[in-house]
Amino acid sequence: MKAVDILSKYNLKRTSCREGIIEVMISTNQALSESEIREKLSGNYDRTTLYRSFKTLEEYKIIHKIIINNKLIKYAFNNELTSKDEHVHFYCNECNTVKCMDTIPVQKYQLPTGYSDIETQVLIKGICANCKNQENMSNLVISL
Ligand SMILES: [Zn+2]
Ligand SMILES: [Zn+2]
Repeated sequence: MKAVDILSKYNLKRTSCREGIIEVMISTNQALSESEIREKLSGNYDRTTLYRSFKTLEEYKIIHKIIINNKLIKYAFNNELTSKDEHVHFYCNECNTVKCMDTIPVQKYQLPTGYSDIETQVLIKGICANCKNQENMSNLVISL
């Protein structure tokens, strides 16, 4: 699906900023931070325009936000699974990438009486498969 089709599916006005963000996210197929997206955009947009575009795309569930810490927020493009259910996110300490574990749903926690949940976010930090592989490879070279 193209950015234009996605925007028209949700009856959203076509703006070059919205289109650009969607296109970058589809082509990289990875969760990206605002600055990573901005670097890849062909147009130059001020912070307010970008902020508004992200907000709209989030509201329409075209993308979702992943908060890693107070300095790092990433955005991921929604697919069939991620637009419906809360899922686990994985953050790699080595390469700083975030992956949507869209086949792993967030479990429901039993809260004490009187508490009600609105959303549950699960972020697992560790080493991703890519980095693990590279680690194994370099160990192999050392042992040779
Ligand atoms: Zn990694
Ligand atoms: Zn996600």
